[in-house]
Amino acid sequence: IPIFEALTKHDVTSIAVIHGLSGRTFTYGELLNDVAAAKDKLQKSTNGKSAEGERIAFLVENGYDYVVTFLSILAAHAIAVPLSPAFPAHELRYILDQSESLVLLSSDKFQKQADEVLKEGMKTSPINYKQDKIMLGNKDDHVTLEEPTSDKGGMMLYTSGTTSRPKGVVLPHEVLTAQSMSLLVAWEYTSKDVLLHILPLHHIHGTVNALLTPLFAGSTIEFQFPFNATAVWERLAAPFLPNPDPSKKPITFLTVVPTIYTRLLASHSSLTPELQAAAKTALLPSNMRLNISGSAALPTPVKKAWTELSGGNVLLERYGMTEVGMALSCGLSFDDRIDGSVGWPLPTVQVRLANLETGEIMGQTKEIDTSASADEAEVLGQIQLRGPTIFNEYWRNPEATAKEFVEGEDGQGKWFKTGDVAIRKYVAGAGKSDQRWAKGPAYFILGRQSSDILKTGGEKVSALEVEREMLSLPQVSEVAVVGLASEAWGQKIAAVVVLSDMGKTAGRGGKPWSALDMRRALKDLLVSYKIPQELKIVESIKRNAMGKVDKKTLVKDVWG
Ligand code: ATP
Ligand code: MG
Repeated sequence: IPIFEALTKHDVTSIAVIHGLSGRTFTYGELLNDVAAAKDKLQKSTNGKSAEGERIAFLVENGYDYVVTFLSILAAHAIAVPLSPAFPAHELRYILDQSESLVLLSSDKFQKQADEVLKEGMKTSPINYKQDKIMLGNKDDHVTLEEPTSDKGGMMLYTSGTTSRPKGVVLPHEVLTAQSMSLLVAWEYTSKDVLLHILPLHHIHGTVNALLTPLFAGSTIEFQFPFNATAVWERLAAPFLPNPDPSKKPITFLTVVPTIYTRLLASHSSLTPELQAAAKTALLPSNMRLNISGSAALPTPVKKAWTELSGGNVLLERYGMTEVGMALSCGLSFDDRIDGSVGWPLPTVQVRLANLETGEIMGQTKEIDTSASADEAEVLGQIQLRGPTIFNEYWRNPEATAKEFVEGEDGQGKWFKTGDVAIRKYVAGAGKSDQRWAKGPAYFILGRQSSDILKTGGEKVSALEVEREMLSLPQVSEVAVVGLASEAWGQKIAAVVVLSDMGKTAGRGGKPWSALDMRRALKDLLVSYKIPQELKIVESIKRNAMGKVDKKTLVKDVWG
């Protein structure tokens, strides 16, 4: 169903958005009215030029105004280009320039930042829906909004820029709808869900998984931004404190990146005993419906610690990227949340694995035979994807677009080459639940072909696998595994490590753990050629806004 038809079907009096700080609530009725009014305002701000099909950039803080702005751009059949206020000026200019945006909408808070980066001939247009009171018409009187069409109306997101300059990914309205529908079926969002939104909104995770899909489902989205671990615990705990504020509903849904779970776990013990207890109650499977992790690999110790703290609420890991939305996900049944796995292809997503050297397709790509057994050989290859959730092009970058797609032999359309490598294998006891989509062999991400699939002395090593094992050591808090060019080995496995508090005193005489100590401990966990030959202990590892490590830069920073 198209977006506005879906929104119109919700109960107009049910709450769509809650402003974290003020606690102010906005109903679906208000939202639709405000979107209609904001669309009219947008059309007046474009110098008489039609906004249809144009890129409209916007710099608005997470919250109600953001949602109204985003949807009003869709209603104007334009392409929404969300900007992050965390970007430095040169990055904002790059995106404004590259996207050829017609206007830059900005909220009061970011007006100055917007004026500074404005290109010549471009306009900024302030938005201030709440103060303008342009909305708040008759709440029960539904407005009609014209649906965006396939080529007019959608979003353009920039990739995280982990491996190169961010690329503009064009996501037409129908692709956004397909991505949301796929998640809605898999994760069963409902109008009863209350989702705590603590992610940046200029990435697919924050915008499709945590905003658009719950809107399609009629859920309530409560914004709390920027992320603050104590504030999140306080909010989760609120309904379970002795005298709870009745306006604070239990949060049922949390979808964030692994580093956020790590930080929440680290801060739980510093809460007051009363808060600690209430927070634990909030996480119980009977209260919290779903805790999802993605955008980077979930360390198994984090998953285990969360399961313990939450009384058995196992984190659900999934895999996706800007270009495709979500592609693979573990299942709703706890049996289908396998350690180290991202699960199965989501509804409507076709997945195949291609040989890393020859590009030859590995194994079958058709309907998976669920009668196959756990001992079927595992398959390794680059993930390729096809289906209605996949993007069509990088904006103004036909070379990159052409390079990343490959024609299918069956004439049923092109496959997108993700650049990520995975193993597919049957896991006993998992993938047999009656969910329509979580069936067959499960996928395990090995990392990016460009930087995580290392070759040492003729052996293939997944950086992610080594990282996972190293993180299972309680002395280690963070790690990034890379390959260093080596004449003798082709590549030398190397690791950059941040010690945990325990690790800082775990060495001889209470000294910090040394590289030698670590290598000794790893002997029990990894075959010798997978143990990093070089280990560097550092204070911190630089990550981008989505908690990812740019490994090329890391190698330069650490080894010069
Ligand atoms: P750029 O394309 O600009 O270099 P990026 O690839 O980091 O940046 P995103 O689209 O935000 O930008 O991230 C997608 C990538 O994140 C995937 O290709 C994959 O490498 C990684 N990823 C996502 N989910 C997972 C997961 N569950 N486990 C491991 N890696 C993941
Ligand atoms: Mg990428």
